[in-house]
Amino acid sequence: MAYIPLSLPRRRWIADLAEAAFAEAGGSIPCQPVPLIADQDITLSTGDYGNAFDGLLEHCAGRFHIYCNIRETDHPTSTRVRFTIGHELGHFFIDEHRLALASGRAPSHPSFIDRSGQSTVETEANLFASHFLLPQQAFRKAVTQAKPGLQSVLDIGSTFHVSAQATVIRYVEECALPCAAVMFRSDKKAWPAISPTLRKLGYEYLAVSEAAALADGFASKRAFQTPAVNGLGEIFEAPSTASFWFKNVFASSPRNCVIVEQAVRLGPYGVLALLLFPKL
Ligand SMILES: [Zn+2]
Repeated sequence: MAYIPLSLPRRRWIADLAEAAFAEAGGSIPCQPVPLIADQDITLSTGDYGNAFDGLLEHCAGRFHIYCNIRETDHPTSTRVRFTIGHELGHFFIDEHRLALASGRAPSHPSFIDRSGQSTVETEANLFASHFLLPQQAFRKAVTQAKPGLQSVLDIGSTFHVSAQATVIRYVEECALPCAAVMFRSDKKAWPAISPTLRKLGYEYLAVSEAAALADGFASKRAFQTPAVNGLGEIFEAPSTASFWFKNVFASSPRNCVIVEQAVRLGPYGVLALLLFPKL
């Protein structure tokens, strides 16, 4: 679910649009998207659509319709489904996306939330969903008041009823402390989220792609070895070094430092790791 880069003005415009939609949805935490869908005269269907899409926005006879894929482990109010609905609302509220559908050139848009790193359109809709479900003012207040660490990410996700993966992306982006997250997935490539401070200092590329390949002492490896049952597992913690996790950071480099690795298994989805740096 990692994002591809968008220009700062574009990011701000989409964030503002999503915040306005959040206010229109009632402005309560956790955000309630379904009444907003009805207010916009959009219809909604949920069902098991196999692997066809996560969500789909369709324009037909002048009206918009959202299809939301509820697979066997999901239910209509799960964090995954809420994010999918937020994503499809992004396609509706972002003018270019909605007008492209309404023009009839491509009357429906199938969405794959985890593939946003390959598509600007999907990245924009994910950014909308993030700010719709994690509105900036309330989210920043929660991050500021929380003790830095993975437990706080999980707690904030619970408060806003947003998945740990979606929460950690915004946490890393908005947390004042230098940090990075890595989502290790069982059958897919790991994706990183790196804080703006770290990126500016040259910690840009992750060197680790598989939790299973880590040595036994790593927190991510220990989390990976726990059963893949539904729900959140125990949080593991271990000291580590920046040079191990990032490319172009050598052991003898002044940029190498001791960091804290925290990791938790997210049921069948994989292992989420948070790397906490000292103040740089
Ligand atoms: Zn989409």
